[in-house]
Amino acid sequence: MTYNITLIPGDGIGPEVTTATRRVIDATGVSINWEICEAGAEVFKKGQVTGVPQATIDSIMRNKVALKGPLETPIGFGEKSANVTLRKLFEAYGNIRPVREIPGVRTPYQGRNIDFVIVRENLEDLYAGIEHMQTPGVAQCLKIISRKGCEKIIRLAFELARAEGRKTVHCATKANIMKLSEGMMKRTFEEIAPEYADIKAEHIIVDNAAHQLVKKPEQFDVIVTTNMNGDILSDLGSALIGGLGFAPGANIGDDYAIFEAVHGSAPKYAGKNNINPTAVLMSGVMMLRHLREFEAADAIEQSLYVTLDIDGVQTRDIKGDVGAASTSAFADMLVKNLGKKHPSCVSRTYRAINLPQVSKAPDLVKVITRQVNGLDVFLESSADVVQMGATLEAALEGTPVILKMISSRGVKLYPGANPAVDVVDMLTARLIVRESSYDLSDADIALIMTKMSPCFRWNHVEKLNVFDGKLGYTKAHGEE
Ligand code: NAP
Repeated sequence: MTYNITLIPGDGIGPEVTTATRRVIDATGVSINWEICEAGAEVFKKGQVTGVPQATIDSIMRNKVALKGPLETPIGFGEKSANVTLRKLFEAYGNIRPVREIPGVRTPYQGRNIDFVIVRENLEDLYAGIEHMQTPGVAQCLKIISRKGCEKIIRLAFELARAEGRKTVHCATKANIMKLSEGMMKRTFEEIAPEYADIKAEHIIVDNAAHQLVKKPEQFDVIVTTNMNGDILSDLGSALIGGLGFAPGANIGDDYAIFEAVHGSAPKYAGKNNINPTAVLMSGVMMLRHLREFEAADAIEQSLYVTLDIDGVQTRDIKGDVGAASTSAFADMLVKNLGKKHPSCVSRTYRAINLPQVSKAPDLVKVITRQVNGLDVFLESSADVVQMGATLEAALEGTPVILKMISSRGVKLYPGANPAVDVVDMLTARLIVRESSYDLSDADIALIMTKMSPCFRWNHVEKLNVFDGKLGYTKAHGEE
């Protein structure tokens, strides 16, 4: 059969690494009709603000599988990342990033048998990209974590562990600090893990995960984690096995899969024919396994091991400037070595991943009771906080709430400010219902805001929800 696959060459080094990859995949004999599509820098330049033209979206919709080179994103300004847009458009919620020692690649970890997979949630967290300037000097980014997002990625991690015959899944979170958001990932992990009794499940705090990855990486098998944690840990993982040139990845969703390296467009190497194509090539190998072309995938993997280790043909990133193979010469060697097997390094046995089916209901979590027992009002003010407290208390007379405290960046300032705390001009007034069982209505909130707004410039208001008797918000440091 012939597969129709969307190929996005990408920016910077993208065209060189995807050309090399395509040559090697084609040489395995798997028949692929590559549909070449644009995305990224050139598309932005044409004024297309998403960086992803409709023709590219249509191609992926039709083909369901894409292989892409890296896409450039302006840093700190400009449009959103076209990479992230693609993942979101196709609901590719699972970012699978294997980290496996490669024979012949000299690293301080050589011989330690590093072989683990990072399963990173791909759509939520701080990467939802919801940011607002609260005052001219204070920025805010919302960290969105859903039960559904956690359930999908955790089930995917366990299913991947089963498909690859792996024994342990670690869940890496910062639930000790972000108890509701990162805590949701930990709680969901603990709820789902018993369904996979054949696999050992362990939670690890993400900073310790980084430490353990450097200290004893061979202890890990599968690490499931939130988006930003996974982004950082997977770059760390790539450095353990020789760098970003060796780190492949897959973005997996229910219906679409986009394969791409962990690395970016490395603009300083663009057009020099000296970059390592392995990461994109191994992303192509993951694509072949997704297509159940296991034999061709193993053939490429073995050819890579023979080329790097037995023949010693390596690119500049590991060989250095003297005696390194160019990108195209490296690809030539990979084609030549197809069919050869490394004497000691065998490929893992892969089976297709049984993709989890999680309900598509938006309201996955239902509650019996709910109450709004207060408000957090985010204010812009540089006034003295004690004066501010008195003004707010007076303004709230005749409303169903009292001022519980004023905080700045999560630290209580009023009443009883600690003079050591440096204050910025974004402050939070926490208002709590006078009667503990009272449920604030929208009309109450309108009244409260009408009374407060002549005193202070407010930016946003958060309802303080109580679901089934559990507080749906955290307390500030110093708050009782
Ligand atoms: P980068 O492009 O990944 O490059 C960082 C460094 O990693 C390079 O300077 C190089 O290290 C090494 N490297 C990357 N790819 C390599 C390869 N194939 N072979 C050998 N070494 C490789 O990261 P960046 O410079 O931070 O980002 C550049 C652009 O890429 C940005 O616009 C960023 O937004 C974008 N980006 C895109 C993706 C994506 O498409 N998924 C991912 C990340 C970043 P040395 O300098 O040590 O040689």
